[in-house]
Amino acid sequence: MSQPRLTCKDAIDLLADYLETSLGPELVAALERHLRDCRPCVAYLNTYKRTRTLAGEVGRVEMPEEMRRRLRQLLLDQLTRPS
Ligand SMILES: [Zn+2]
Repeated sequence: MSQPRLTCKDAIDLLADYLETSLGPELVAALERHLRDCRPCVAYLNTYKRTRTLAGEVGRVEMPEEMRRRLRQLLLDQLTRPS
């Protein structure tokens, strides 16, 4: 069986769904595997979670699309920047 391999961009696109809705078990596994050795994506996820906690007590309030877009851009900038 072939598991999907995610790029960072794939992972970022999946994170919102991962946190807010239910992904299929295969995608969740692929995402978690990606997160195990991808620090930028983990950082993104943590920022996302923290922002959500601040924005809404128990996740009632969704992260504003604007902020989501900015976080996404921030991460993509980090990934494409030669370090
Ligand atoms: Zn990644």
